[in-house]
Amino acid sequence: MLWQADTEEEASAGRLTSIAPNRALSCICYGLPESGSTVRRLGFVPNSLAQIAYTTVDRMGRKAGDSVAGWVVTSDDAVMSQGLGEFLARSVAGQWTESRQGTHLQCELTGDADELDELAWPMARALAQYLLIYHERDWLDDLLHRRYHIFDADEQRTILDHALRILHQDQDQDLSRMDLAAAVIFNYLVHQPTLVVEGVRTFLMSDIKAEFDEAIDQAVDTHLMEQEYQEFVHLLRQLVNVAGTRQEWIHVHFDQRRFYFEDPSGLRLADELIDDILDGADVELGGLDDVLISALVTLAPERITIHQGNLAKEGQETLLQVFDGRVLFCRGCSRCYAAHVDRDWRSF
Ligand SMILES: [Zn+2]
Repeated sequence: MLWQADTEEEASAGRLTSIAPNRALSCICYGLPESGSTVRRLGFVPNSLAQIAYTTVDRMGRKAGDSVAGWVVTSDDAVMSQGLGEFLARSVAGQWTESRQGTHLQCELTGDADELDELAWPMARALAQYLLIYHERDWLDDLLHRRYHIFDADEQRTILDHALRILHQDQDQDLSRMDLAAAVIFNYLVHQPTLVVEGVRTFLMSDIKAEFDEAIDQAVDTHLMEQEYQEFVHLLRQLVNVAGTRQEWIHVHFDQRRFYFEDPSGLRLADELIDDILDGADVELGGLDDVLISALVTLAPERITIHQGNLAKEGQETLLQVFDGRVLFCRGCSRCYAAHVDRDWRSF
């Protein structure tokens, strides 16, 4: 957890007692001399991120009286500077002035030392939110572009969506990331009167950048796997089309760890073919779906009814894609019901 202590004493006590590098969560304190004595909890920081915050604590060592007289926030980035002044003025109360020259934007906050002391944390949080909420996608886009320029615009969009899902699957992690960003910006603000927004990403948020890079790598892997799957489905569809219809209507029934085919009158079909394919497959590792799909591709039926049994969700989706519009899933017929009752009865 990240704590803010309001006296140097508390800060150093916090530092000594709460840093625990080997644990999942660590406590970190920031000292703000000469202003009351309450300790505020700021949020969670996972251990991997704690190290950074720890070094910022070490470097802090601010003495009473060396407060900054105001902050100037600048940006030369056309996208990032758009709306920055308005956002800051809305998020941080105080005397704001904004000036713009070409693409260069400058926002200045002035006030007396006590006021600014109080505003350092809100200011740090606002900037963290600006970068991690409003401009997160731009940042990811930029990182993706630099490292994987081989993908076209559509693919980049898909990969970015995957990356965003990966980064935001855990709310605690979102809060930690935001807290870490706010902490490093806060530490910077108490020493420095000028902050270049683009520089925050590059120089202060290297851990978050590493996390983003990793999410992009994972997103690229997911995208490539999906692409491979789509190619596989496409190939199977072609095989089905080339084969032409060899059977009118196949009913697929499951029996323990295998399946069998019947025609509409209840006659068994293609037992030999199924046995042959089952012989060479590893059914234990979810290979049953693959066996079923390859048997059906070989027979290329006009209609397929899948009765209830052990077919994984992925297998169902693949079947639907390969046999577009020809697959029906039985939601419970007398055969399925009888098989179910039979199994229940046998288990007693
Ligand atoms: Zn059925």
